[in-house]
Amino acid sequence: MLFTFCKGLVASSWTLYPCAEHRFCLGHIHKNMKKISREKVFQDMLWNLASATTIQEFNHAMEELRMLNNDFYEWVKAIRPQCWSRAHFIGRAHCDGLLNNLCETINNQIKKARDQPIITCLEYIREYLMLRIVSVQKVIDKAVGPLTPTATKKKSDAAQCVGKFCGNGKYQVSGPWMDQCVVNMVHHTCSCRRWEITGIPCKLMGFIQTILCMHATLDLDLCFHY
Ligand SMILES: [Zn+2]
Repeated sequence: MLFTFCKGLVASSWTLYPCAEHRFCLGHIHKNMKKISREKVFQDMLWNLASATTIQEFNHAMEELRMLNNDFYEWVKAIRPQCWSRAHFIGRAHCDGLLNNLCETINNQIKKARDQPIITCLEYIREYLMLRIVSVQKVIDKAVGPLTPTATKKKSDAAQCVGKFCGNGKYQVSGPWMDQCVVNMVHHTCSCRRWEITGIPCKLMGFIQTILCMHATLDLDLCFHY
């Protein structure tokens, strides 16, 4: 559940859905932050903190923030990180969204129909979805190859990786920017945690998947260069 930063709603949602993963919209946290400071450096740090996918990266960014401004550090620390930081998302939702964009978009699109009778409102939504499907289909028709543009980009990024098999279904995979992770094909995890959080393989994991498909019959205890 992704909420705006509204205290009453947050309290009742925790009571009604105690087992759900609750999140705050980072855009609204940012808005509240502007009451304390409008400096761009704090804005960037907030987004860096939220975007970090591992606890180590998050803690490192928090420490940088503490050194820069202790008051702002204490303000950020008081907001439950489980609700806004990717590093603390448990991965059950398979969504790394930090913003409440989906609700805002729907809200904005049905603005003209919201105060209409229910049938008129539903008819407006039906027509909107019909047109939306057509415009999405136009984008699909322009796509080259069987994959989406995002997946195609990820595949080309994966081509720059180098991997080594290290036993028990694990691989050490290095990217072109000195980024290195452990991909576990048994537990379906990567130490960058992007795979766990989104359910979509990261480029490092994508590399191993490609190699496994290409070399299914070969000895994997080798260093592969794709
Ligand atoms: Zn990864």
